[in-house]
Order: sequence, then structure tokens, then C-alpha cells
Amino acid sequence: MEQDTLQFVKQLLAKEYEKVQGRCHDCGKVVLYDIGLDDEGKVGASGPIWHFSYIAQGMFMKCLPCYEKDPILRNFRPTEVHNRVSICGKR
Ligand SMILES: [Zn+2]
Repeated sequence: MEQDTLQFVKQLLAKEYEKVQGRCHDCGKVVLYDIGLDDEGKVGASGPIWHFSYIAQGMFMKCLPCYEKDPILRNFRPTEVHNRVSICGKR
């Protein structure tokens, strides 16, 4: 995960959130992912999440089928294309 996203998920965990819900950026389907820490204390999510603090408070999400088709988050802002984040699985 990118640093921004890591920071964001850490903040959610600090507020005792265990799940995040949103809509897939590509198809609009509702997605619900677990967030948490692994044994080494690394932040993880059960699905792809992006957060960019300089754009918005919230996050961008993709459902797994859309992520498999296209792991890059495209057109979240008209002129930008961003690199993918890796999915750190929560056990
Ligand atoms: Zn989708």
C-alpha cells in the first residue's frame, strides 16, 4: 500500500474500525473489506483500497473482479492515472 493509504487505514484502526465499505470505482458495486494488523503489526486490508489525502477525506475502492481485470485506479481525477497498491491480506 502507498504511504498515504497506510496512514489512512491506521487512523481508521485507531478509531476501532474493523471494516470499510464503499463502492467499486469501476462498476459501482458495494464492497466491504476487513482492515487490521497482521502478526508483524503491518496494516492490511482484504481488498484494494486507495486514499490520497491531498484529494479527499475518503477512499477509493475496487471490487476484486474489477481489480483483477485492471489493478490500476484510473480517472479518479480527470487527468491522473495512479499506480496500483498491493493487497496485504489480513489473516
Ligand atoms: Zn467492480
